[in-house]
Amino acid sequence: MMWHATILTLYPELFPGPLGASILGRGAADGHWALDTVNIRDFSDNKYGSVDDTPAGGGAGLVMRADIMANAIDSVPRNDRRIICLSPRGRPLNQPLAHELSQGPGLIAICGRFEGIDERVFDARQIEEVSLGDFVLAGGEIAAMALIEACVRLIPGVLGSASSLGEESFEGGLLEYPQYTRPREFEGRAIPEVLLSGDHKRIAKWRDEQRNEITRTRRPDLWERFSTDGPIRRSNNKEPKT
Ligand code: SAH
Repeated sequence: MMWHATILTLYPELFPGPLGASILGRGAADGHWALDTVNIRDFSDNKYGSVDDTPAGGGAGLVMRADIMANAIDSVPRNDRRIICLSPRGRPLNQPLAHELSQGPGLIAICGRFEGIDERVFDARQIEEVSLGDFVLAGGEIAAMALIEACVRLIPGVLGSASSLGEESFEGGLLEYPQYTRPREFEGRAIPEVLLSGDHKRIAKWRDEQRNEITRTRRPDLWERFSTDGPIRRSNNKEPKT
């Protein structure tokens, strides 16, 4: 079964957007994954095509209606996929969640607009909430794209050189070491000598030290978890040996 994302949105014309470019676009053309959209407005019950109304209890803005959202969700074949609403109140998106989702059948993503969505629909349709970070966007579309991109590049076959996956930031729980390429000297700055030595053991040791140092200074939260729990191990996926 192909990994399949369905996006519920008021702006289907935004998709695939960046998801159609580069390795993800090729991955879709090669049949590794597929995307389709549902326009929430098609489920409006009035001639104006509106899907929202004023908040109960008063206050600014508009809220997307539970009945219209439920009808839009119910129109989508579920196929065992998790339903995820992009929301600043959700569980923060991270690499372990992307791995988890990439190993499943795909997902159904709901993009909010306005003030958000009537609370009752989350429980009524078992919707999980996922956040892109501690900031507020104008809509869920960019967050849905980020979530889908993070998942799809982990699907076996999508990334050309699979070996680039294992050493990246967050894989194993640390940030990545610094990368260099030609020219050998750039505006008076040289490539660290060890990387030109051809001594693979020394290079691996240097990269380990850099990884630790960068994580410790930039992301004390990740470093703390790494120091306590050790490297993240993934038992159930086909992570390449590098
Ligand atoms: N009133 C809401 C914000 C609404 S923003 C609040 O204060 O929590 C409108 C929509 O943008 C949301 O329904 C959600 O789908 C999307 N959105 C905004 N910020 C987001 C974030 N950090 N992560 C994921 N989606 C977000």
